[in-house]
Amino acid sequence: MPAVVLEDESLRDGLQFEDLVLPFSHKRRLFDMLRAAGVARIQVGSFVNPKVVPQMADTDQLVRELGGVEDVLVTGLVLHDKGLQRAVSAGLNHISLSVSVSDTHSRKNVRKSAAEALELALDLIVQARAANITVRAGAQCAFGCVYEGAVAEAAVVEALARMAQAGATELNLADTTGMANPRQIKQLVGVVAAIVPEAALSLHLHDTRGLGIANMVAGYEAGVSIFDTSVGGLGGCPFVKGAAGNVATEDAVNLFESMGVATGIDIERLCAVTTLFESLLGRRLPGRMNRVLAAHAIR
Ligand SMILES: [Zn+2]
Repeated sequence: MPAVVLEDESLRDGLQFEDLVLPFSHKRRLFDMLRAAGVARIQVGSFVNPKVVPQMADTDQLVRELGGVEDVLVTGLVLHDKGLQRAVSAGLNHISLSVSVSDTHSRKNVRKSAAEALELALDLIVQARAANITVRAGAQCAFGCVYEGAVAEAAVVEALARMAQAGATELNLADTTGMANPRQIKQLVGVVAAIVPEAALSLHLHDTRGLGIANMVAGYEAGVSIFDTSVGGLGGCPFVKGAAGNVATEDAVNLFESMGVATGIDIERLCAVTTLFESLLGRRLPGRMNRVLAAHAIR
């Protein structure tokens, strides 16, 4: 068992706002390469309206095809009832869902107030548990919002505690806007862990202001051992101006392995995935380690 688990979200958070719609065969190949590199959790897509987000239109097909995979926790993002039904019929055993604790961000993102979105999430958790699906529930904008500024810690804690009570077994603190700092990470992780000790905690960090890795270290030192990442740092968000992607998976692997913390991931095989993403997208991605390895020609 690795000491730290990285959930790669390249295929979901990474691709969802790209202009390019990757063909199914490429997605499958990227999944297989991530798996071969030792990535233990892969978020393969979201169950959203394919007319609105064509990049995610084949999530059902991908989940179906990955039904026999046992060495990777395959997960998908669910936003509403219809999405949950699709996840169930595709045979998914684990889902991710999340609500924004910022009213303004929530309205822009899902056209619902934060309170309405939370009620919907609670209902989805109950339904998923009844269908024998495990749930990770998250709070977006947990460390601040570009529209509203500071976010009340109490609102984050309340949303997460209620989702745990409804049956979520893992709680995710998402720095959607990249506004978190290491001190804040330690503070909020400590509070959530004290109030909901039964739930596993994970962090979803965007590197918008360059603090992604620092925040990851702070989270690890505060006791978090599950982190969301994306290959090459792919990703962004149209509702958050200037947003960068998640911390690059290969940079997180380098961080932890260099500190003597096992990730179970082979960085050279992982960087081959970054290279493939870069050639498919036709541009360089912001992650560092792929370039470092290439420059040193050690692979
Ligand atoms: Zn994100």
